Amino acid sequence: MGNGGRVQLQRERELIAEFARRLRPDGLVIGTAGNLSVRSGDLVAVTPSGLDYDELTPATICVVDLEGRVAQGRCRPSSELPLHLQIYARSDTAAVVHTHSPYATVLGTVVPELPPIHYLIADLGGRVRVAPYATPGSQELAVHLEVALAGRAAVLLANHGAITIAGSLVRAYSRSLLLEWLSALYYRARVIGEPSLVGDEEVARVGRFLREYLGTDRDAP
Ligand code: 13P
Ligand code: ZN
Repeated sequence: MGNGGRVQLQRERELIAEFARRLRPDGLVIGTAGNLSVRSGDLVAVTPSGLDYDELTPATICVVDLEGRVAQGRCRPSSELPLHLQIYARSDTAAVVHTHSPYATVLGTVVPELPPIHYLIADLGGRVRVAPYATPGSQELAVHLEVALAGRAAVLLANHGAITIAGSLVRAYSRSLLLEWLSALYYRARVIGEPSLVGDEEVARVGRFLREYLGTDRDAP
């Protein structure tokens, strides 16, 4: 531990508790599914495994180092910690949101990618790839995710759910909502016909515009 009992990452734990409690009302998970994390320096605050979101408080949020060792108190971090740590090891991403949102999960069982059904997919870096299925919590899943995430801020996990990343938890969470909205659009469009798509070059142009508009490069996919 070695921190003299000091509470670490207090602000990040408060933020995670706040957003974790929104997951169910926002329809992004059922039960205790899903997990959130925020990195600050060489520490990561992450939701505990399997804890009811109604019981979540800042004090129940785990703090681990980049190797996954619990840095403070007694805590069982999310079983998907390998997946979160894989992302932090390979990029300067500051936040990761994992959901089981229904439309994103449906698409991950049917299509090889979510195509540009709407220009706002630019905020996710363009076409969202589907990472092949691997056992939840496994290193294999973390590696599949890393491959599918290259140059993107979102991935669909086949037969499992979805992941979004950003330079802040607020943005990573809003990307999860966006991903679910885009997935629902695509699903609904496919029910009545073959949807028209936005060209990849146009998506890249909109992406550049959004980065200026949002004014933060740290969020760039
Ligand atoms: P945890 O409760 O361990 O975070 O697991 C939830 C989940 O979504 C597993 O994929
Ligand atoms: Zn999951």
